[in-house]
Amino acid sequence: GKSRSCSVVNLSTIPDRDLNECNIAMLGCRGSGKSALTVKFLTKRFISEYDPNLEDTYTSEEIVDQQPVLLKVMDTADQDGPVNCERYLNWASAFIVVYSIENRRSFEACRLYLDTVSIHTKGVQQEFPVILLGNKLDMERYRQVSKSDGLSLASKYGCLFYEVSACLDFDSVQRVFHEAAREVRRE
Ligand code: GDP
Ligand code: MG
Repeated sequence: GKSRSCSVVNLSTIPDRDLNECNIAMLGCRGSGKSALTVKFLTKRFISEYDPNLEDTYTSEEIVDQQPVLLKVMDTADQDGPVNCERYLNWASAFIVVYSIENRRSFEACRLYLDTVSIHTKGVQQEFPVILLGNKLDMERYRQVSKSDGLSLASKYGCLFYEVSACLDFDSVQRVFHEAAREVRRE
């Protein structure tokens, strides 16, 4: 019917589709909620138990500011901090560095990742958007990392900063991923 051919035309006439790609690497220590955030973004659902060793890359066609973008998310699963980082450093066009606001150690681990990314950035002489992301905002009662600590670390590394929860509203989580795509487009 008419409506069907119409949607086919719409998809195939979007210009430069392939150029609008964004590869986001999720970094951060174990248990910070990288997988929960990734799954939330992709499915709108909170999955509480996710295999901590599973590292995978997912693809989602997103519309950001009325423009299509092929968004790929690598949900990394480092065992002991940033080692063998080439697989994501050479792949990513943006980085989301995650900690849990109720775990100081996870926050301290972010410095290692932020340093790793900035050394890489200097080496290849290219800018990559980086977002520092405090997760588990629903655990406010057990907070060990203040918002101002997050903000000051982010400003030290010149990155964006947000706090969210993988188990609360979807929109806030989606906003973070879309902001990464927006920043990549700006580069
Ligand atoms: P990863 O190792 O960084 O991939 O962390 P996971 O996504 O596997 O999450 C580690 C643990 O934290 C799991 O038990 C999750 O259920 C829990 N978790 C993840 N995100 C949140 C969150 O926003 N709030 C709460 N309360 N728990 C979370
Ligand atoms: Mg994981």
